[in-house]
Amino acid sequence: MRYPAAEKDMDNGLEVSPDATELAKLKDAIEKENEILKAIIDNSPAIIVIYNDKSILYANPYTASFTGYTMEEAVKMGPLDFIDADKDTLKLLGEQIQRRGRGEIFQSSMMHRFRKKDGSLSWVKMTTNTIFYNNEWAGLGIFMDITDKVKRESEIIKEKDEMALLSQKDSLTGAYNRRASDFRLSAMINKALSAQTDFSLILFDIDDFKYFNDTYGHQAGDTILMEISRVIEANLRAQDFFARYGGEEFIIIIPEGNTQKALELAERLRKVTEGHDFTIGEKITISLGVTTYKTGDTPQTITYRADQAMYAAKKNGKNRIEIYI
Ligand code: GH3
Ligand code: MG
Ligand code: MG
Repeated sequence: MRYPAAEKDMDNGLEVSPDATELAKLKDAIEKENEILKAIIDNSPAIIVIYNDKSILYANPYTASFTGYTMEEAVKMGPLDFIDADKDTLKLLGEQIQRRGRGEIFQSSMMHRFRKKDGSLSWVKMTTNTIFYNNEWAGLGIFMDITDKVKRESEIIKEKDEMALLSQKDSLTGAYNRRASDFRLSAMINKALSAQTDFSLILFDIDDFKYFNDTYGHQAGDTILMEISRVIEANLRAQDFFARYGGEEFIIIIPEGNTQKALELAERLRKVTEGHDFTIGEKITISLGVTTYKTGDTPQTITYRADQAMYAAKKNGKNRIEIYI
């Protein structure tokens, strides 16, 4: 190999060997580059680790401050010891480490829960690649803390769920509203069609509510509505659906209930209401209409029957149950 002609050193006039100058420049450049790299790695707000299938070979200083492990502890750990994931994910990550060890070059990016020394969990975005380090193929992992982002996102989802639920609830009584009831009724009819299951409907209305409003005031009327919702709900099973259908009218959908069961429940609710102390010194009673799903029903036809039954209960003297098959 030929090197460029010798150059004069301008300062001292001495002749220097050309490769020594080049080498010095190169060394200088490498040192500068190392310095920059070290500054980046030392000050990086991300975990940077190099690992093989047995242990962590290198960890940057942020690893210690983030995980709570000392550097000495960190480099003794297994490459997956920080990861909190299910068995399948851990198996996949283990396979990736093996592939990197064989020199296979590929990038991978995933979100994981990360376990710190104190046992607390954080969310990290983990990006990994294959590198050649200390004469062996290894994995390079960069972990960014995304806990705040994940928390914010889950809060937004929670808020959305709460909003969706609120839009189905009646603000006065806390029972489901008419909208939710219509929706549930359609769903029950679809289920009945596909799974051959029956369900029953109870529609009830407070007797002489106008009188109570006029006598004790609208506020007292509101309290009665809240109280009756509470009393009825306390006497239903978890699978029964209860909604305020309108004004002082309520609906109950009883899944997989035959007419006899629905009648028994209606009678229980009638008695419980009649016997409840609404603290106005007068009895509050309800009139109930009962019907059961039959093939070909639409939300309108089944509600119409329950409504007709309830209307008959009013006509026949109130505080009673009528049934319309
Ligand atoms: P019936 O025994 O035939 O059911 O007679 P009623 O007096 O209960 O029925 P009516 O339909 O004449 O009166 C219902 C009253 O319910 C009229 C309405 O002002 C009142 N109402 C409807 N919604 C509310 C509410 O949210 N709060 C209060 N306080 N009253 C309400
Ligand atoms: Mg009424
Ligand atoms: Mg009414």
